Amino acid sequence: MYRRNFLKIGGLALMVSVHSACGEDSVTSNQKRIVVIGAGLSGLAAAQELHRQGHSVLVIEARKRIGGRIWTSTQWTDMPLDFGATWIHGPQGNPLTDLADQINATRLTTSYDRAVIYNTSGKPLSEAEEARMSDLRAQVFRALEQAQDGDTDASIRQVITPLINQFDEASQDYRFINFILNGAIEHEYSGSVERLSAHWYDSDREFEGDDVLFARGFQVIPELLAQGLQIELGQVVKEIQWQRSPVRVITQKTEFSADHVVVTLPLGVLQANTVRFSPELPRSKQDAIAKLGMGVLNKCYLRFADVFWDADVDWLEYIPARHGEWTEWVSFKQAANLPVLLGFNAADWGRAIETWSNEQIVASAMQTLRTIYGVSIPEPIDYQITRWATDPFSLGSYSYNRVGAVPKMRQELAAPLEKSIFFAGEASHQDYFGTAHGAYLSGLRAAQEILNL
Ligand SMILES: Cc1cc2nc3c(=O)[nH]c(=O)nc-3n(C[C@H](O)[C@H](O)[C@H](O)COP(=O)(O)OP(=O)(O)OC[C@H]3O[C@@H](n4cnc5c(N)ncnc54)[C@H](O)[C@@H]3O)c2cc1C
Repeated sequence: MYRRNFLKIGGLALMVSVHSACGEDSVTSNQKRIVVIGAGLSGLAAAQELHRQGHSVLVIEARKRIGGRIWTSTQWTDMPLDFGATWIHGPQGNPLTDLADQINATRLTTSYDRAVIYNTSGKPLSEAEEARMSDLRAQVFRALEQAQDGDTDASIRQVITPLINQFDEASQDYRFINFILNGAIEHEYSGSVERLSAHWYDSDREFEGDDVLFARGFQVIPELLAQGLQIELGQVVKEIQWQRSPVRVITQKTEFSADHVVVTLPLGVLQANTVRFSPELPRSKQDAIAKLGMGVLNKCYLRFADVFWDADVDWLEYIPARHGEWTEWVSFKQAANLPVLLGFNAADWGRAIETWSNEQIVASAMQTLRTIYGVSIPEPIDYQITRWATDPFSLGSYSYNRVGAVPKMRQELAAPLEKSIFFAGEASHQDYFGTAHGAYLSGLRAAQEILNL
C-alpha cells in the first residue's frame, strides 16, 4: 500500500519422465528451451516475452493455480476479492496500466483523500488531535531523514526511540507515533519497524496517480500474460542443477531440462532453502537472500448485510492502544457499492495472528469496529482471511530493506549465473520491489537477458 504520501498530507501439462522444456524435435537451432519456475507475474512476464520471441518455453508452478501473490478469490460471486495485490499503485506510466488497457479491464479508484482517522476511543480525530498528529508525523520523518544522513544504519524503531521515549507509554502521543510507524511505514513496506532499515526502507520509486483496483480482480493480468503459454501446475521444484548443460530442474514428481532457467521463487522461499541449488549459489547471492527482509501483510475481508460505517470514505484508520492492531481498513462501499470492509494487518502483528483461528481473528476485528461504530453493529455475514507468512510458496507477502541490507543487494539477487539460470521476482527489482509492477518489470528484464545472449 502506498500509505506514506497520504500520511504526509493527511495449465497445460507436458509429461515425460525427463522432460525437455518442450518437445526437442520441434526446437529449431536458434530456438532455446527455457523453463520458467513460478507462474506469478514475474514468471509469466518473462515466459510471455520469450515465447513471443519464438523460444520454446515451459512454466512450472507449485500451486494448482497461476498468479502467485496475485490471487483473486471468487467465493463471493458478486465481488471478486484480491487476497494478494489489489491495486495498481500509481497507474500513470505504470506498465500494468498498458496491460489493463489492452483488455479494457474496468478499474475502480480509491483515494487516500477520502479517509477518516479514529482515535483510540473510536471518535474521529478532533482538530487539536489532527494538528498534534501532523506535528508528530513531521517529527518522525525528520528524525528518519536525519538518520539517513548518518554513517551507521539502525532500525526505524531505534531511530525513533529518543522521540517516543519522551512520552509515557499510556499517552496519546505515544500511541500516535506508533500509529504513524505502523500505518505509514509497516503497512507500506510490510517489514517491522524493529527491523526495517532507517537508511534504506524507502529506497523505492513510485509512479504517479490515484491507486486503481480491478473490478474483476487483479487476476485478469496474470490471465492475460498466461495466454498461449505452456504451464504445468502442481510441480513443486526441489532442486536446480545449474552448472551443467542442459540445466536440470527436479520437482517432487519429475525432472525437466532446459538451455536456460528463469527462477522467480519468492524471497521467503529462497530464504527457507526449500529449493536446493546444485552447486550452491555464489556467496554474494546467498548474502543478498539472507540479508533482505520478507515482510507480512494480511487481509481480513468482512461482509455485512448493510453498510453501517461512513459510506463516502475509502480509508478508515484506527489508532489502537497496542502497536499495529487493526490500524488500516478499506471500505468497498464507495468503489464497488458493496457492504464489505477489508482490515489489514502488517509486520509483527500481521504475522502473529496467522496462528489464530478465523473466528478469533474476526472477533478481534469486530472488537475494533465496535469501539468505533458502537456495540450494536451486526456480526459479519461472511469473511475471507489470508495467511501469507505461512503460505509455503511465498512465506511472506513482499520484500523490504532490513537493517544490514543495501539496495545493491537486489542487483545481486537479480544477477544471472553462467548463462544458465536467470532470476526475476519482485525482490530482484531495485526500484519497484514489493509491487506487482516491480515483479512484471523484473520478468521482462530476465527475458531480455536471455534474448541478449
Ligand atoms: C497481501 C498482499 C498485498 C499486496 N498488495 C499489492 C498491491 O496492492 N499492489 C502491488 O503492486 N503489489 C502488491 N503486492 C505485491 C505483489 O503481489 C507482488 O510483488 C507480486 O505479485 C510478486 O510477483 P512475483 O512473480 O515476484 O512472485 P509470486 O507471485 O510469488 O510468484 C512466484 C511463484 O513461484 C511459485 N513457487 C514458489 N515456490 C515454488 C516451488 N518450490 N516450485 C515451483 N513454484 C514455486 C509460487 O507459487 C508463485 O506462483 C501485495 C502482495 C501481498 C501478499
